[in-house]
Amino acid sequence: MADVRVNASVSDLTRIERIGAHSHIRGLGLDDALEARAVSQGLVGQTSARKAAGVITQMIKEGKIAGRGVLLAGQPGTGKTAIAMGIAKSLGPETPFAMIAASEIFSMEMSKTEALTQSFRKAIGVRIKEESELIEGEVVEVEIDRPASGQAAKTGKLTMKTSEMETVYDLGVKMIEALQREKVTAGDVVAIDKASGKVTRLGRSFARSRDYDAMGPATKFVQCPEGELQKRRQVVHVVSLHEIDVINSRQQGFLALFAGDTGEIRAEVREQIDGKVAEWREEGKADIVPGVLFIDEVHMLDIECFSFLNRALESDMAPILVVATNRGITKIRGTNYRSPHGIPIDLLDRLLIINTQPYSEREIRRILDIRTEEEDVEVADDAKDLLTKIGVETSLRYAIQLISAASLIAQKRKAAAVGVEDVSRAYTLFLDVQRSVQYLQEYAQEYMYNEAEAAEEEEE
Ligand code: ATP
Repeated sequence: MADVRVNASVSDLTRIERIGAHSHIRGLGLDDALEARAVSQGLVGQTSARKAAGVITQMIKEGKIAGRGVLLAGQPGTGKTAIAMGIAKSLGPETPFAMIAASEIFSMEMSKTEALTQSFRKAIGVRIKEESELIEGEVVEVEIDRPASGQAAKTGKLTMKTSEMETVYDLGVKMIEALQREKVTAGDVVAIDKASGKVTRLGRSFARSRDYDAMGPATKFVQCPEGELQKRRQVVHVVSLHEIDVINSRQQGFLALFAGDTGEIRAEVREQIDGKVAEWREEGKADIVPGVLFIDEVHMLDIECFSFLNRALESDMAPILVVATNRGITKIRGTNYRSPHGIPIDLLDRLLIINTQPYSEREIRRILDIRTEEEDVEVADDAKDLLTKIGVETSLRYAIQLISAASLIAQKRKAAAVGVEDVSRAYTLFLDVQRSVQYLQEYAQEYMYNEAEAAEEEEE
């Protein structure tokens, strides 16, 4: 592996977004004084935890959290994952967020430490700047954004000649005005008179022929994004270290990223990549973007994994480690010792602990409002009241899940909005945990009988 490959299409892959359970979260929703607004950036309530998370975000930005992590302790469904994601979002749109439940580490077809290493590397972004020098006279396509005052020109591509860029740059605002006046749109080419700065739209036929020389030396061909033209093309993409590992791992190839089945990655591959990334950093071609690694149900990790975390936190490229648990004092897996949250004391010492609290009925209602909007589901007020009641009595997550089920049921009866009957139907179709357990207990006899019967049949 002489050259470390970074495939641009992989960075596109990471940008594919879907409506996930936390897609409504866009930050921590804090004001300048780091006070949590009641409802903001998709987050509701949980104000002291959000404020604490905000302080941590500030520490991260100031580089003051090296070697430490965060522990979110609270009951299921109290927004621990949501807050971890809020931290990542408030660190900037490029910040990688990787999430794993501790139990997954034991179910993967790889060693525990390999699984943890992959999770860590998924949460470390590399911002790569690829600068391609433009050649004098080269014709390039330049993306245009909406011009400064935001109307006429649309997003699209225009064509320009590099040799003219310098002058165009100087024309600045005048250019934007002219582009707007000429109602330049995607695909158009404009000519500018060097002396007067007069802009003429050349129309589609010119765009097709691209006969620049026929226009004579007094003309430039341009478009102008936001008053500023880049003299160089600079492509910036953020990929995770893990993605670079997979692309460069001979056994895997980058298609493994789609399947999620990347297997173990050899240590030499990682060493080479780390070396290359360090080189790029020195040359100013790349920066590290530390992300957030969220490990849920952290009490499920065993003592070896905890030692790994202790060591990994020391690395200068470590992401921000956020772990979560809903356990109090419990046994540390792989030992006979009990410890707060099932986490060994030496790791606990490194963690800043934040508690999350159960939600009030009003807060549940607000979260459901946000989720129905996010999922683009129209829900009648009384149906929302019922969903809220279900959320209070069962769990917030269960109530959230009922939204899409109820919406499908409403669609089947061709209703414009989800009504009480749709929520009730969804509630009877899908059990919450409590009812499911109750059901199993009531019919335990029959289940056991069935199993015994099946076993007998097999023997025959
Ligand atoms: P568990 O311990 O079971 O993993 P959790 O504490 O991580 O649960 P989440 O998964 O974050 O809980 O919350 C359940 C759902 O409710 C998610 O869809 C989450 O985005 C949403 N949610 C939780 N808290 C809030 C909040 N304060 N504001 C908005 N949405 C929230």
